[in-house]
Amino acid sequence: MKTLARELEAYINAIGKLALISIADRSGKILHANEKFCEISGYSKEELIGQDHRILNSGYHSKTFFVDMWSTIAKGQIWHKEICNRNKNGKLYWVDSTIVPLKNERGLIDRYLSVRVDITERKQQALQMDKKLKESNCLHLIRQDLATQSNLEIILNHMVRHIIGAIHKPKFVATRIELLDTVATSENYTDTLNNGISTKIFIDEKACGQLQLFSLKRDFFDLTKVQDFIETIAYELGKWHERKEAEDRILKMATHDALTQLPNRHLLQDRLEQALALDNRLHSKMAVLFIDLDHFKTINDTEGHEVGDKLLKETANRLLQCIRQEDTVARQGGDEFIVVLNQIKAPLDAGFVAQKILNALIQPFFIQNKALYIGCSIGISIFPEDGKNASVLLKHSDIAMYHAKESGRNNFKFFTQELNISACKQQILKKELYDALHQSQLALYFQPVFSMPNYELKCLEVLLRWNHPDKKLVMPQQFICLAEDAGMIIPIGEWVIEAACKQLKAWQEYGIDIPQIAINLSAKQFKDDSLIKKISEVLAETGISGQQIALEITESILIDDFGIVEKTLKQLKAMGIKLSIDDFGTGYSNFSYLKRFQIDTLKIDRSFVRDISTNSSDLAIITAMVAMAKNLGIDIIAEGVETQDQLELLRQSGCYQFQGYFFCEPLPVNNLEQFLENRISQLSKKIVRMN
Ligand code: C2E
Ligand code: CA
Ligand code: CA
Repeated sequence: MKTLARELEAYINAIGKLALISIADRSGKILHANEKFCEISGYSKEELIGQDHRILNSGYHSKTFFVDMWSTIAKGQIWHKEICNRNKNGKLYWVDSTIVPLKNERGLIDRYLSVRVDITERKQQALQMDKKLKESNCLHLIRQDLATQSNLEIILNHMVRHIIGAIHKPKFVATRIELLDTVATSENYTDTLNNGISTKIFIDEKACGQLQLFSLKRDFFDLTKVQDFIETIAYELGKWHERKEAEDRILKMATHDALTQLPNRHLLQDRLEQALALDNRLHSKMAVLFIDLDHFKTINDTEGHEVGDKLLKETANRLLQCIRQEDTVARQGGDEFIVVLNQIKAPLDAGFVAQKILNALIQPFFIQNKALYIGCSIGISIFPEDGKNASVLLKHSDIAMYHAKESGRNNFKFFTQELNISACKQQILKKELYDALHQSQLALYFQPVFSMPNYELKCLEVLLRWNHPDKKLVMPQQFICLAEDAGMIIPIGEWVIEAACKQLKAWQEYGIDIPQIAINLSAKQFKDDSLIKKISEVLAETGISGQQIALEITESILIDDFGIVEKTLKQLKAMGIKLSIDDFGTGYSNFSYLKRFQIDTLKIDRSFVRDISTNSSDLAIITAMVAMAKNLGIDIIAEGVETQDQLELLRQSGCYQFQGYFFCEPLPVNNLEQFLENRISQLSKKIVRMN
C-alpha cells in the first residue's frame, strides 16, 4: 500500500465500504483485499493474500473470457465486465468488476486494482426474467407444433430442440422424451446420465411416457427451477395426444363402418377415385365387385339382429381373406359389400376372385352354436371397358349383381355379356378338367432342342395338350391357369412327370437315344411339399436317372421365398436334376440368383427371338444374355426360332442351341419318332440350303 498515492488510498477506503477491493501484482497474486471482499467471498484476508483470483473461479466463464481480460489489462487498459464467482462455501455470486492497471514511476504496470460491486441480486432477477422469456418462447413454439403437426416423432424431436434452446446453458443440459413407442433425445444424451429431473406424461390419466432433463455439469445450475416448466410441457403433450386420438376416432367413424370396421361407402368412393387415377396412368385394369348376401334378411328376421351383426362381421373377415393386400373391401350398407381389385391382368381374373368369394361365403357360419347358410350374388364391372369413373363402375356392378340374383343366386355375373360367356366357358372347362385327368384326355407333345453345329438332339421339351372330346386339341395356355385355380395343377403336374418319364423309358427300351427331357413346372407345383417325393418315386419306378431330367421354372418362382426355394433346389440338385429358367428376360432384372442357385440353362424368351431381325435392341439384349451366360458357365437356348434369318442372327450372337418351328413343332410321340428317324436327311437339306 505504501506505493499508492495518498489520495488514492483515501478514495479506495471510501468506496471500499460499498465495493470489493483488491490489489494484485503483475502476476495476478493478491496483495491486498478489503473487508467487503472477505465478507462476500467468505475467505479471510490471510486466506486470500498470496493467492490469485483463480481461487474464486466458478467455472461459469470460458477460458477466452480471462484471456481477453489479461490481454486488455496487460496493455494498460481498463477492463470492465460482470463476473460470476464462487465463494468459499461453493455458492455463486455475481460482481460488476473493473480492473485498473496501475503504473509505477517508470511508467510500467506493476499493480492491478480491482473494484467489484456485488450485483448477485440484480443478476438473479435478470436471469429469472431471461429464463421466463425463454420458457414462454419455447412453450409458444411447442404449442405451435402441437397445433399443426400430427406426427409424434416429429413433435418430440422438435420439442427436444425447443427445450434445449430454452435452457440458459444449452451445452450443459441433455434431454430425453419418451411417449408410447416413440423416443427423442438431444444429441448429447447418453444412458449413463443420472443427475437430472423428470416428469411423467399422462394420457387419459395413465402414465404413458416421461420427459427427462439432465445437467452435464454437476451442480452448475439448479434444474429444480425448471421442474414446473417441464411439467407444463408434459401436460400439454399428454393433452395433445388425447385430442389427437379423439380426432382419429371421429375420422374413423366418418370413414369406416362401425360394425365391421371396413371402409364405408364414402371412403370407398375416395379409394376408387385414387385407384382409377393410378390405373388410368398405368393403363391397367381394375374390377369392382358388388356383393349382395343371399338370404341375409331371413336370418336377420328369424335369428335376431345380434346374430345378423355377427354374421356380417364374419362375412367381412372372409372377404378380407379372399383378396390381396392392395385390394379394398368396403361395406356399402346393409348386406352389401364392395370389393375393388386393383391392377388385374385380365378381366377374367376378377371371375376367379368372385368364385373364391362364393366358395368362402357358401361355407356354414357357426354363430351361437348354430350353423347358418347364406351365400351371395356378385356383379362385376371392369375399368375401363364398363365405365371410366367410380359411380358408373359401381352402378354397372350393381346391375350385374341383379343379373346374378335373377339367374339363380350364388353366382357371379360380369356387366359385359361377352365376359360372361368367356367366364361360363371357363367354368365348364374347369369342371371338365377333372374328367380330362381321369379319362386319359391329357396327352404329351414333345419339341426337340438342337445344338449346333451338327444339329445334335440335345433335349425334348414336354408340352401338355388336352384332347377335349368336343373341342379337338386344347392348348396349355387355355387350361393351365384354370387348373391352378381349380386346385388341379398338382395332380395334373404329377401326371405329366410320370407320363414323361415312362415315355423316356420306353424310348430307351426301343433304343431311341433321347439325352434329356425338359418338364415345365408351375409355381404352385414347385412350392408343393410333395414335389420332391413324387419325382424320386417316379425316378425309382422307371429307373431314369436325374441327369436326364431338366425342370423348367420361371424367374418369379426363385424370387418368392428364398429359404424354401433354396431348400427345394438343393434337393433337386442332389438328385442330379438340371434346372432351366424359362422365358428368361421377361421377369426379374437382378440376376444374382443365377449363381446362387446354380442354374444350368437359360431359355431366351420367344419375344426377343421374334423381333431379333427387326429390332436391334433385342439383338443387343440377346448378345448380352449369351455373354453373361457363358461367363457364368450356363447353357443358353433360344426359343421360338421360326426363320433362317433369326437362326443366323442368333448364331452371330454366340447362341448355339435352338428350339422352334423352324426345326420342329411340338409333336405327339408317333410323329416325333418319325421326325427323329428322318431328321438327319431333313436337317442336312436345310443346312445345305443355309450354306
Ligand atoms: P413354354 O414353356 O414357353 O413353351 C414353349 C411354347 O412355345 C410352347 O407352347 C410351344 O408350342 C411354343 N413354341 C415352340 N416353338 C415355337 C415357335 O417357333 N413359334 C411359336 N410362336 N411358338 C413356339 P405351348 O405348347 O402352347 O405351351 C405354352 C405354355 O404352357 C408353355 O410355355 C408352358 O409355360 C406351359 N406348359 C406347357 N406344358 C406344361 C406342363 O406340362 N406343365 C406346366 N405347368 N406348364 C406347361
Ligand atoms: Ca418351357
Ligand atoms: Ca418358354
